[in-house]
Amino acid sequence: MIDLHAFFSQQLPLWPLAQANYNNLKQALIKDVYLSDFERIRLVCLPARIASSSAKITAKGEVDRPCFLCSHRLPAEQQHLDFGHCDILVNPFPVFEEHFTVPSKKHQDQSLLDEWPSFYRLLQEIPQDYVVFFNGACCGASAPDHLHFQIGLKDVMPLQMDTFASENLQCIKHYENCSLYALQHYHRQACLLRATENATQENVLEVLKLFLQTFANLCHLDDAEKHINVVAWKDGSEYLLLIFPRAAHRPQCFYSEDENKRMITSPASVEMMGYYIFPRAEDFHKADAAALKAIYRDVCLSQEVMSQLFALLLIDNESK
Ligand SMILES: [Zn+2]
Repeated sequence: MIDLHAFFSQQLPLWPLAQANYNNLKQALIKDVYLSDFERIRLVCLPARIASSSAKITAKGEVDRPCFLCSHRLPAEQQHLDFGHCDILVNPFPVFEEHFTVPSKKHQDQSLLDEWPSFYRLLQEIPQDYVVFFNGACCGASAPDHLHFQIGLKDVMPLQMDTFASENLQCIKHYENCSLYALQHYHRQACLLRATENATQENVLEVLKLFLQTFANLCHLDDAEKHINVVAWKDGSEYLLLIFPRAAHRPQCFYSEDENKRMITSPASVEMMGYYIFPRAEDFHKADAAALKAIYRDVCLSQEVMSQLFALLLIDNESK
């Protein structure tokens, strides 16, 4: 088991900027908004996150600035925990009270499949009180040019805390050691991949690849990986992966010229999980259920497209 907590406690006192940002996190404004009688969204105002919410990223998920995750550009205070092809680093601009970035040692494009064994091994080797997540290059990754995952804390993001009542899950298909479910009755279209403790990384990878291929075919995408958020955690003897296929990087309100409607937001995994970060106080105060529903409607696949995606996965099932 990787002792993330010890690493965090050792790093923080040695890095004043990070220490200050973690202290600020404790003072952040918070409010809860309900999109239905059970769908809770927690809004958090974090001015330090402005850079990642407003980053200039092209439609293809490219950026024009020096890479800040390459090891030779990391701040002098930054320590690392060696993890095979990757390093585990404390994130100095946190969303969680313990927040880590896990970049690959090599400068390479953001891809979940390219470092899948590392992602799955993280899931297996971190303590159960953490979650691992991936933001595709076109949906919230702040460094789409350098492959990285993130680690945050469990029991912070509302969707992770939901017990997934059976009426909110529809089973799509059973695979070897895993099953795929559609998340229902939420204002966010997502699917849940549940894997047993015996599932190998290849078992889960096969389902993920099938899902990505089907999503790419249906939505005419060159690279479906750029358009997903994935949040994964271990729950007892099961591994749970929530996958959000995305329709857009940013909602329409981001581009509005009317300052009353404009909101600076680039929803990524944490926002899809219902832990909604607004860097600007005016957006935090303005955001209500209607605004959040509009944001999710803009950036998620529609229910209709999601149903088509599941129908295609089912056909694939029957043809085997
Ligand atoms: Zn780099």
